[in-house]
Amino acid sequence: AAEEGFDVEDVEGALEEAGHGPLPVLAVVGRPNVGKSTLVNRIIGRREAVVEDKPGVTRDRVTYEAEWAGRRFKVVDTGGWEQDVLGIDASVAAQAEYAIEAADAVVFVVDAKVGVTDTDEAVVRLLRKANKPVVLCANKVDGQSGEADATALWSLGIGEPHPVSSLHGRGTGDMLDAVLEALPEAPEQSFGTAVGGPRRIALIGRPNVGKSSLLNKVANEERVVVNELAGTTRDPVDELIELGGVTWKFVDTAGIRKRVHLQQGADYYASLRTAAAVEKAEVAVILIDASESISVQDQRIVTMAVDAGRAIVIAYNKWDTLDEERRYYLEREIETELAQVAWAPRVNVSARTGRHMEKLVPAIETALAGWETRVPTGRLNAFLGELVAAHPHPVRGGKQPRILFGTQAGTKPPRFVLFASGFIEAGYRRFIERRLREEFSFDGTPIHISVRVRE
Ligand code: GDP
Ligand code: GDP
Repeated sequence: AAEEGFDVEDVEGALEEAGHGPLPVLAVVGRPNVGKSTLVNRIIGRREAVVEDKPGVTRDRVTYEAEWAGRRFKVVDTGGWEQDVLGIDASVAAQAEYAIEAADAVVFVVDAKVGVTDTDEAVVRLLRKANKPVVLCANKVDGQSGEADATALWSLGIGEPHPVSSLHGRGTGDMLDAVLEALPEAPEQSFGTAVGGPRRIALIGRPNVGKSSLLNKVANEERVVVNELAGTTRDPVDELIELGGVTWKFVDTAGIRKRVHLQQGADYYASLRTAAAVEKAEVAVILIDASESISVQDQRIVTMAVDAGRAIVIAYNKWDTLDEERRYYLEREIETELAQVAWAPRVNVSARTGRHMEKLVPAIETALAGWETRVPTGRLNAFLGELVAAHPHPVRGGKQPRILFGTQAGTKPPRFVLFASGFIEAGYRRFIERRLREEFSFDGTPIHISVRVRE
């Protein structure tokens, strides 16, 4: 496509970038004060500061994007948070468990100056069970003299300790090389390569919106618990449920069962669980309690699913409790608070009465269909050509930027690259997105559009 000043390399580069599927996920685990947050800051290059949190304060960010040696991945951060209700072992174990669940590989951080503690041993047991690749970080090795402390960590029996000073950066490069070796090129759940098998649904929403009630209602005694990791003693996390004649895999249902009751840090666990479930799923069914005002927490959960690029269905639950007045205000709230997912199929349900349960599956199927849609380049350009001719970009500084051509770089979710003769304004980009959605039925899926401007 050496059209209008773009050469083949431009186009291939843009496609490669835009075609990026879901990124592999790295979890950083370990007990408090071993240096997890310091390490995460170093891995993400301090581009996004990990905020110093007070214990128990809600953290809505638990994942960050990072890049090393040209490869991108996500980091799940479990640092900066300490819990004093359950006791240290239980809280570290619970935190590590959720993080490991979400991850393709794990960095286990140990304070080499302190040496191995009982809590470290407890984490090692979890890591063994989880059977995911582990990179052992012997942290706080600030100089040559600390190397012996690192060597001592061979005793953990999980492979080579990498001597690192997260504080000064010493050894972090070598460790990150090992991380890249441990991380799959594409995540295990890589959608591109997944063939067959039940579709994966994450049922998410803030506490008490009715997730477990809904699961019980739809499951109708048909639940089959899937314990994917043979020989584990952990709670099973995925369940097979038949709905509408099709078997679906509901991921991370252990989280739904509220296994961990905590005072402090409960919100943080909830975010971590939600992140874990979303990472593993293809479609997120986001439950919202229609009887209450849509909250910031609801919005955060929606944003998490959108950012992760999942197909999305919004289910407004507890519909049985709504009077006319509440229904009126709910519609206003949806318009203002959830405008970012106006494209998501919506169902108004009641887990209590069973109202509209039969609409759930068609909504999920619609969302997945949009998520997987691929528009042939010819059709896309015929559409873009007409659109641009009928609605040209506004003239700016005597020039009129034009969309020259476009192509779809990927699916799950759909990703487009548009090539333009000049800077395309945000309003015009949104206009194009809206029309693309209308034309090609991208219901229930985020779509990514990147614009390349000819230099
Ligand atoms: P977290 O609780 O595991 O997230 O630990 P933090 O990242 O908050 O670090 C705990 C303390 O250890 C802080 O005072 C850090 O400055 C310190 N620390 C972290 N990494 C290193 C290191 O490599 N060397 C030294 N000397 N101190 C470190
Ligand atoms: P979760 O924390 O999201 O799993 O929520 P639960 O399923 O535990 O439900 C929280 C509360 O809301 C429970 O008391 C449920 O009985 C109630 N609940 C759930 N769904 C409905 C519904 O559709 N209508 C009504 N009236 N109550 C519901």
